[in-house]
Amino acid sequence: MGQSTDYLVVGAGIVGLAVARELRKRYPKLRITILEKEAAVGHHASGRNSGVLHSGIYYGGGTVKARVCTQGARRMKAFAAEHGIHCHHTGKIIIATSPEDLATLERLQENARHNGVRIEVLDEQGIRQIEPFAGVFQQGIYCLDTAVIDAKAVLYKLVALLQDDDVSIVFNAQVIAVDIPARTVKTPQGEWHYGYLFNCAGAFADQVARYFERGLDYALLPFKGIYFKLHPQRNPMVRANIYPVPNMGQPFLGVHVTRSIHGEVYAGPTAIPALGRENYGMLQGAKWGESWRTGYALSRMYRANRHNFRKLVHSELGKYRKKDFLASVNKLLPDLTGEDLVPCDKVGIRPQLVNIRENRLEMEFILEQSPDSLHVLNAISPAFTSALALAEWIVDQAHHHAPRPAT
Ligand SMILES: Cc1cc2nc3c(=O)[nH]c(=O)nc-3n(C[C@H](O)[C@H](O)[C@H](O)COP(=O)(O)OP(=O)(O)OC[C@H]3O[C@@H](n4cnc5c(N)ncnc54)[C@H](O)[C@@H]3O)c2cc1C
Repeated sequence: MGQSTDYLVVGAGIVGLAVARELRKRYPKLRITILEKEAAVGHHASGRNSGVLHSGIYYGGGTVKARVCTQGARRMKAFAAEHGIHCHHTGKIIIATSPEDLATLERLQENARHNGVRIEVLDEQGIRQIEPFAGVFQQGIYCLDTAVIDAKAVLYKLVALLQDDDVSIVFNAQVIAVDIPARTVKTPQGEWHYGYLFNCAGAFADQVARYFERGLDYALLPFKGIYFKLHPQRNPMVRANIYPVPNMGQPFLGVHVTRSIHGEVYAGPTAIPALGRENYGMLQGAKWGESWRTGYALSRMYRANRHNFRKLVHSELGKYRKKDFLASVNKLLPDLTGEDLVPCDKVGIRPQLVNIRENRLEMEFILEQSPDSLHVLNAISPAFTSALALAEWIVDQAHHHAPRPAT
């Protein structure tokens, strides 16, 4: 017969957990269930990211990302303080490495003014007072509000709080089919009848949305983010976070260096087109049917070449070679050598949504709805930073659809 719940959340990444928390705050008495396909939290993007709480400087005024990132970062810091989670308020620098970067730095300053982000614009000397080894060209921005957090500790704490609040989290429960008229999902653990469903399935959100005939204008391109570690002897070269000036037409921030909450310094991540949504190894996790679809979407993007997409693909593919990877890190830290970069097993996949009608990468978070469901489609960076404010916005959008009783 299966089980019943008023709100069903698919996916226990940061977005699903934050949505469930927001629902519990608003509806203390309703039944809330999260279905997660893995045996624990943190297997995918939410447990494999850089752990940086972004300030909101990258996003234009008036965008959802700008608003939820700045608000979300504040809330995540307060959450960390309240629950004893390690969060270092280190700040970060974004540095020009060529004359072409200077115009984008101005645009970032404009965003900062508009979004209420605290920054200082510094010359080379000012930047080197913060990061003595940084290879800056003329100018950089110091973002005072950026922090680094223990991302997995946030996930574990949210799970514990939700379970204390009587939210049921079911692991090993991948949603594999949906009966829409019956409002029932099927999983290897049995069936769940729901009043209203939130699809927060991260890299699989488009697939889940398709059961509902939603997300039809999009394909998902997985991009692999690999990291190297700095040799521990070279860790003192990085005080906190050093980022390049990004290409504002693309959603990736560029290879950066970050001192993690545990003191190791990571360089990365790349944005290399991947062979599958969970292709964490060279071939491990590659799915051939999926690779074919990915290849097709990729080739259309390549031909259309919006925002210099070809250049992105060429330069990112090159980063499988350590020499090319080092070259991108050397823009930030010119004194670093190949021996200073140590391979490591940290790797993540960014599930990037492509608009297949317009052949462009989607930059914003995207929601689509049906009468009894809402689908979170492009939960890319900075969804971790934003999660607590993002969840509020997501639940607001579904607010006028109170769950129909799930009998
Ligand atoms: C390399 C990298 C670096 C990043 N750095 C940062 C950063 O520094 N700061 C920042 O703010 N953001 C960063 N991000 C982005 C951020 O990590 C993601 O935007 C965020 O974690 C997305 O959360 P999510 O809950 O949507 O996805 P996920 O964490 O992937 O969670 C989705 C969950 O849904 C489950 N699931 C999937 N399909 C099903 C199904 N059919 N049934 C049941 N469950 C299912 C999955 O198992 C998974 O646990 C980074 C991302 C990457 C990859």
